[in-house]
Amino acid sequence: MCYAIPGKVIELQGKTAIIDYYGETKKAINEFMDLQVGEYIYAQGGFVISKVPEKEALEILDLWREMFFELRKTDLRLSRLDFEDIEVEKSFSLILDKAAEGLPIKKEELLRLMQTKNRKELNLLFKVANFLRQKHLQNSCCVHGIIEFSNYCSADCTYCGIRKSNSSLKRYRMSEDEILQAVDEAVNKYGFKALVLQSGEDPAFTPEIMARIIKRIKEKYAVLIFISTGEMDSDGLQLLYTAGARGILLRFETSNPELYAKLHHGEKLADRLQVLKDAYAIGYLILTGSLIGLPGQTEDDLLNDILLAKELHAEMFTFGPVLPDGPPSEQVLKVLAVSRIADPSNAKIVVTTGFETLDQDARRLGLLAGANSVMINVTPMQYRQFYNIYPNRAHGDESIEKQIKDTLDLLYSLGRAPTDLGIS
Ligand code: SAH
Repeated sequence: MCYAIPGKVIELQGKTAIIDYYGETKKAINEFMDLQVGEYIYAQGGFVISKVPEKEALEILDLWREMFFELRKTDLRLSRLDFEDIEVEKSFSLILDKAAEGLPIKKEELLRLMQTKNRKELNLLFKVANFLRQKHLQNSCCVHGIIEFSNYCSADCTYCGIRKSNSSLKRYRMSEDEILQAVDEAVNKYGFKALVLQSGEDPAFTPEIMARIIKRIKEKYAVLIFISTGEMDSDGLQLLYTAGARGILLRFETSNPELYAKLHHGEKLADRLQVLKDAYAIGYLILTGSLIGLPGQTEDDLLNDILLAKELHAEMFTFGPVLPDGPPSEQVLKVLAVSRIADPSNAKIVVTTGFETLDQDARRLGLLAGANSVMINVTPMQYRQFYNIYPNRAHGDESIEKQIKDTLDLLYSLGRAPTDLGIS
């Protein structure tokens, strides 16, 4: 969804459009169309994705105006900082004072935050992360849809339920028309403006075939496409970019090279990182992160994960627990909150389905600890249960309608607007 509201183009600087949203300006890249100052558009992830006729735009903006400012008020109330209420060690609160002031935080200080297990310190950490999220990015919350179109996988990641060697899993592969049909439903029926196409590393979906699918999608639908099909060489990435994909979701899983090799039968972390570097060089938006709770993983490793995601220019951080066992919820929340403190003004931080599977209250807790993004599973119901990366996935049997309703109810209760106003 990212139920984006229309924005008005107030200036054009080459490919960059300056867009007004109720008096606030954002930038978005315009690649596809001839655009004039004064026209209305939808933008997503910093890209203009379609024009909106003026009459329709004004009607939507009218409808949203009151709600938009009402939500902002609620969010502001919920993200206020009241340091006085919480008594914690001075050395800890000083770091958070600095973070709240926007001063640079050293790595040792971030590690001190990462290492705390003290309840009061954790509460303060989450509050400051939420404060920073509000201060820099206000109340917008990305709501992307995800279509899991194949669970065939030639990789054999030890922790993953769809790994090649799991012979007990029933495999499926959606046809091109089924994928298009799922996109049609997500875009036309439910209003999604950004979709992730995810699969195992399925050799049947060659870059050429994926490019054809993406082209067909882009010809028909105004939607931002993220690919999440595993590792690919630079030529493949370029082919899919040319076809119209603009984002890649690829976790590096862990920044610790030894741990990485252990979990992936000796494969190299550097190879996976190269994909992310190539993708960035081509122009992709980067969505990346790691798993929390891997055997032998330390707090230092987790902090390095956060810093690596930032170094890789992550537009969105995706950190989630390893399941079924999982770390305690606090550990996941800590990673989300420290991510926000490490990259206060840029990052979109997603509450992952993994975290939602670990803790029923994950979305609310995560959104109040620095996160500002969620995903909705729009995979057709007959396939969803087989995309079994881990057991009992949250929303595995929930209709898209129910997921959207629950998401909107929660977002509104927290004063968040399910919208993506582009990159400021
Ligand atoms: N083939 C794609 C998609 C892989 S599945 C790729 O390589 O990126 C998407 C993500 O699921 C993985 O990146 C991994 O972080 C996560 N995942 C796999 N097994 C998991 C488990 N047992 N618990 C939690 N997350 C898991």
